[in-house]
Amino acid sequence: MEAGLDETFVRCATSGLETPDESRQPLTKPGPFMDNLLEFFASMPSWQRSFLLIGGIVALWFAEGMRPMVALSSRSRHAMINLALTVLQLVVGLAFAALIVLAADFTTVSSFGLLYQVALPLWAHVVLGVLFLDFFAAYLIHYVEHKIRWMWRFHLVHHSDTHIDVTTGLRHHPGETVIRSTAILGAVLLLGIPIGVFVLYQTLSVLFAQIEHANIRVPDGIDRLLSLVIVTPNMHKVHHHFEQPLTDTNYGNIFSIWDRVFGTFAYAAPESLTYGIDTHMKPAEHSRLVNLLSMPFRELRSPSSNELHRAVDDKMKSREGEGK
Ligand SMILES: [Zn+2]
Ligand SMILES: [Zn+2]
Repeated sequence: MEAGLDETFVRCATSGLETPDESRQPLTKPGPFMDNLLEFFASMPSWQRSFLLIGGIVALWFAEGMRPMVALSSRSRHAMINLALTVLQLVVGLAFAALIVLAADFTTVSSFGLLYQVALPLWAHVVLGVLFLDFFAAYLIHYVEHKIRWMWRFHLVHHSDTHIDVTTGLRHHPGETVIRSTAILGAVLLLGIPIGVFVLYQTLSVLFAQIEHANIRVPDGIDRLLSLVIVTPNMHKVHHHFEQPLTDTNYGNIFSIWDRVFGTFAYAAPESLTYGIDTHMKPAEHSRLVNLLSMPFRELRSPSSNELHRAVDDKMKSREGEGK
C-alpha cells in the first residue's frame, strides 16, 4: 500500500499534476519543461559535458585561425602553457566537484538555502539559481580577488596573459581554482542549489568563459547590444587591459547586469587595449609554466616600480614602426 502511494506521488510530481497527498508536495512543483531540463543536466554523463566543452574550445580555436582579431604567430606554444595549467586545475577541481555534488544533494533533501525559504515555482528556482550563482560564484569572488592581496597573487596568473584567446579562459593558477571552488561550494549551500541547476550553471559558465576570451572579431553594434544583458567578448577584453582603472572593471562572467548595477561596467574598443598586467610584462615572466606557478609566492610589485611602462612603450613603438 505504501509503495503504491509512492508510485502515485512520483508519477504525479513528474507530470506536473496535483498529488493526492498535499503534505508531500515538493516546495518547487515541477513543470514538464523545467523538470526535463533539470533532469537532463542532473543526469548528464561527464563524457557529454567534456565533449561539449572541448567541442567549444576546438570550434573557437578554428574560428580564431580563420578570422583572428589580433594575429599571433606562436598560437600553439601559447595554448600549450594555458592547457598545462588547465590540467592542474582539473585535478583540484575534481576533488571539489565531489563536495559540490554532496552539498547540492544536501540542500535538495533538506530544503536548505535562501531559495527554499519562499515557495518558488521550479522555473523561478532555476532562473534565480543561475542568476545568483553568477553573482556569488563569479562576479563577487572575482571582485574580491582584485581587492585582497593574497587572492590577487593567484588571480594575477590569469591577467598576465599578453595574448587573449580561447585558451586564456582556461588559464588559472590551481590555487585560484581552490578559491573559486570554495566560493561555488558556499554559494550552493547559501542559495540552495539542486545538482541540475548547478550543472546547468557550470556548463553556461564555461561556455561563456570560452566565448568572451576568444580572439574573434564581433561587430561593435552587436557586441554592445548583447552586453546590455550578457558578458560579451569585447566587454571582457576590457578587463584584460594591462593597467587600471580598466583592469578593475567588468568582473562578470555570464550576466553583465552585475557590473551595471554595481558601477564596474566599462566599454572600450578592442583596438585601444593592451593585454597583460602592468607588473608582469616581461615575456619570461608570463610565458613559462614554472614562473606562472611560482608567481603567487613572489613579492607583489606596484606598477610604477617596475619595467612595465618601458616594456609597453617598446611594444607600442614597435607597433608604430610596423605601421610605417
Ligand atoms: Zn580579473
Ligand atoms: Zn579573463
